[in-house]
Amino acid sequence: MKNVFFPIVLVFISMAARSQTTIVRDPVIAQMVGEISADSLRSHVTNLVSFGTRHTLSNPNDPKRGLAAAQKWVLRKFQQYARQSGGRLTAQIDSWTLQPDGKRVDQVTPMGNVMATLKGTDPNDDRIFLVSGHIDSRVTDVMNRTADAPGANDDGSGTAAVIELCRVMSKVPFPATIIFVAVSGEEQGLLGANHLAQRAKDGKWNLEALLNNDIIGSNNSPDTKITDNTRVRVFSEGLPGYQTDSVAANIRQYGLENDGKSRQLARYTKEVGERYVDQLEVVMVYRNDRYLRGGDHTPFVTRGFPAVRITEMNENFAHQHQDLRTQDGVEYGDYVKFMDFDYLRKNTAMNLAVLANLAKAPAMPQNVTVEARSLTNATTLFWQAPKAGASAGRKIKGYYVLMRETHWPFWQKKFFTDKLGLTLPYSKDNYFFAVQAVSEEGNESLPVIPRPGLR
Ligand SMILES: [Zn+2]
Repeated sequence: MKNVFFPIVLVFISMAARSQTTIVRDPVIAQMVGEISADSLRSHVTNLVSFGTRHTLSNPNDPKRGLAAAQKWVLRKFQQYARQSGGRLTAQIDSWTLQPDGKRVDQVTPMGNVMATLKGTDPNDDRIFLVSGHIDSRVTDVMNRTADAPGANDDGSGTAAVIELCRVMSKVPFPATIIFVAVSGEEQGLLGANHLAQRAKDGKWNLEALLNNDIIGSNNSPDTKITDNTRVRVFSEGLPGYQTDSVAANIRQYGLENDGKSRQLARYTKEVGERYVDQLEVVMVYRNDRYLRGGDHTPFVTRGFPAVRITEMNENFAHQHQDLRTQDGVEYGDYVKFMDFDYLRKNTAMNLAVLANLAKAPAMPQNVTVEARSLTNATTLFWQAPKAGASAGRKIKGYYVLMRETHWPFWQKKFFTDKLGLTLPYSKDNYFFAVQAVSEEGNESLPVIPRPGLR
């Protein structure tokens, strides 16, 4: 497929690093990015809002109003996209029942995550990439299951993004598997995400990334009088809760407190997202979530999976978790009319670029090691080819060795090699290194931090 299209080559200037890197956009991904449509996203959000409320405790037997009706609509959208996938996409509602928990569930409640699984085309590639939004909505009182709760932005925006990603991506084959999921029960305590994360853990899924999209479609903050649709936040955990004492000791010894798996995914999201989406800056926030708040990525982070939260830059709290009303001249409520669909388009396209680049990339290189035998100011790294991605029909172009100064937030330099090792005239005392596998089309795996060892 190489050279069938004219690849778009551009010089990417990182505003923060003030360094220049030549970037090649994979034309297959660039084309999909261009297919993400603001009109289509508006239609998805408007349809979700039309169910009146999507509260988790709303009447499950009402065919027109409430969460269950909305879930069936999302399932129908996924089934519609399955028909264009050549049998690769399957859709279902993963259902279970909750008993009252003395907290935010006060009745026996049928639960469901609406899932569409786009099966990878490489039978030797068991990697899974997940993208989520939460379908449930709420008003001021989290137990109010009857009032209108449009949930256009929270989280109709994330759910619409998931539907739109499924629409565009289901037409294209990927070696690895992508799962699109509209999670339920977020507002009642991350219930759907907990269920799914436990399922992934019990099933020993090779889940390499979760992108959780929650509140990604509005661009203004009345408190600070900012309107800006060119920036989006990615929140990531530095020292995850699953770290045992021994892992913590390694982190201390190697100085890796800023290199956890979710933080690497956040860096990757920034680099790849900005590569493909114009007029969008991905702002990394070094926190698992916003101050004292939580989200659906957390149950994955605590179980050891790389997971990040994507959220708009400026939240408008008059439009979040609010009874619909006008008070002192301010209109409260999470309505469609307060959203910016071109901003939602960019944020959805950013997700697409990251997911597609991951799913097209080879798996991560194995046994990445930094030579630790002798004291030297050069650094030698070596590794083994990835488990998946080297099989028939898929070629690995080579590897990137990434490098950055210890205090720097992003990778600053990228060295290419087609060998299984590289020596660089930079000291491992002063820099962090990582290695990515890269496909013929330029799709990189997630980076692997080396462990010390001997050749
Ligand atoms: Zn939310």
